[in-house]
Amino acid sequence: MRKPVIAGNWKMYKNVGDSIATAVALKPLVANANHCEVVIAPVFTALKPVADRLEGSNVHVSAQNCATEQSEGALTGEVAAFMLRDAGCSHVIVGHSERRQYFLETDAIVSKKVQAGLAAGLTVIMCVGETLDQRDQGKAQSIVSEQLVGGLSGLTASDLDRIIVAYEPVWAIGTGRTATPEQAQEMHAFIRRVFAERHSQGAAESLRVLYGGSVKPDNIAGLMKQTDIDGALVGGASLKAESFAEIVNYSR
Ligand code: PEP
Repeated sequence: MRKPVIAGNWKMYKNVGDSIATAVALKPLVANANHCEVVIAPVFTALKPVADRLEGSNVHVSAQNCATEQSEGALTGEVAAFMLRDAGCSHVIVGHSERRQYFLETDAIVSKKVQAGLAAGLTVIMCVGETLDQRDQGKAQSIVSEQLVGGLSGLTASDLDRIIVAYEPVWAIGTGRTATPEQAQEMHAFIRRVFAERHSQGAAESLRVLYGGSVKPDNIAGLMKQTDIDGALVGGASLKAESFAEIVNYSR
């Protein structure tokens, strides 16, 4: 049985005070959500204060990014994965399409970040997904496969239970246009097949594959009905505690 994950990516929204207020409001709203893991990903500056407020609750804290390097050093502006762990994070998101698109992150960079997250003891949510052009050209599966294989290269069997894959078609992120549950299911099943070929059938069956792209309270239930959809990575609709809690609660 794969335990679903509902993760909220707050992107570059909310200062420290707003982040704390949202996290504190969310906590009681999802306190009975034992059917899934609840994760929120505030901005770097809010990680420690939010994690402190959530200590002992069922809401986990994730960073949205980490450095490729595993130890401290002269790397102005970077934050190492072990520092995120130290700040109270249990998860880190890597390879989000906004990082790939605006910060030119390649699969090689994403792979280093995956390794850094794992080495720090974090669970890594690695994002993959094709652009609309790539989908229209019939390249969606080959792009996703390339990102999966490139990003997850060099993993050992013991690393696999701390890997979560988020399939986020770029054309569905922040656009209000969601992939249909069937479109998402098709890609999720494909991701599981690629993972089985690279690792093992058992590892593929245990892998949580989240869907991301305009998930809202009114479409989560349809997505969750699909066999290979194990939760969601939610952007816009995670910014308000109430709508995120509805998504968590409708994901049963
Ligand atoms: C995201 O940022 O990962 C995302 C899926 O955003 P949205 O839900 O707003 O499409």
